[in-house]
Amino acid sequence: MASNVVVDQDSCISCGLCVNNLPNVFRFDDSGKAECFDPSGATEEMIQSDAIDICPVACIHWQ
Ligand code: SF4
Repeated sequence: MASNVVVDQDSCISCGLCVNNLPNVFRFDDSGKAECFDPSGATEEMIQSDAIDICPVACIHWQ
């Protein structure tokens, strides 16, 4: 079952780590905050290790 990924944009500091590491999953929206536009753009393991685990403010979550 595919899991969805959400970014708490109130907490995102726009550091770019998730967007740079997984550009097929995350992008900046018009407000300059990261958003997940395609949770199937990488494996769940990659999303966990290359985004969720390294987000400096821990604002990316499985839903
Ligand atoms: S890693 Fe976290 S703080 Fe950095 S852009 Fe992504 S969601 Fe925002």
